[in-house]
Amino acid sequence: MKNMRRSRRHRITISPMTTTSFPLDWNEIDTVLLDMDGTLLDLYYDNHFWLEHVPQRYAEKHMTSHEQARARLTDVFAAQRGSLNWYCVDYWSEQLDLDIGELKREIRHLIAVRPYVEEFLQRLRQRSHRVWLVTNAHRKSLTLKMECTGLERWFDRIICSHDLNMPKEQPEFWQRLQKDYPFDPARTLLIDDTASVLVAAQQFGVRHLLTLLQPDSRVAPRERTDYPGILHFDEIMPSL
Ligand SMILES: [Mg+2]
Repeated sequence: MKNMRRSRRHRITISPMTTTSFPLDWNEIDTVLLDMDGTLLDLYYDNHFWLEHVPQRYAEKHMTSHEQARARLTDVFAAQRGSLNWYCVDYWSEQLDLDIGELKREIRHLIAVRPYVEEFLQRLRQRSHRVWLVTNAHRKSLTLKMECTGLERWFDRIICSHDLNMPKEQPEFWQRLQKDYPFDPARTLLIDDTASVLVAAQQFGVRHLLTLLQPDSRVAPRERTDYPGILHFDEIMPSL
């Protein structure tokens, strides 16, 4: 109850663009597409990794200060944001001359499933919805996170945008996804913490779109979102 009260206070929503009715009518939804980082998993791990851990290791390797490393990497990262490179472990390993996959393992203890996620996934399976994980994460990151969380067992399908050679931020990604794995966008729900991903999916025709109000548990909840938002999955738990 405490969480639900908090969530109502923070829920600021309803863009004129969206057709999502809230609360959701689960009888209108067959397929549920779920993002991983910042949606099912706490984004704190990724934020800490890129903002603290990589600059620290970069500074050690390149004999510079942590502050200088952060400043330099901020610019380097910004140039690739939203592209497939941004999510590519191999690309950053080469660019930064660091073993990014290994560095990710060094702080694996910070990988955390967000509250109510397992209960939500179990309920979706009990109701026979099709449940797909659709992520921009590189296979190496995905493998590590599934190893650490055990979430893999809940999904009918796991799709890496790298396999389609297109990030989720591009409307064409959703065309390619549907071509390879048919689904009815009018009866599909996408939950993703990244607004530009929701925009692209909406342009393609995905009807039900939700975002997260607090992707990183150590950052204050967002006060404004362009799509209906939830703090935790207990707010949209379907009944049996
Ligand atoms: Mg995300």
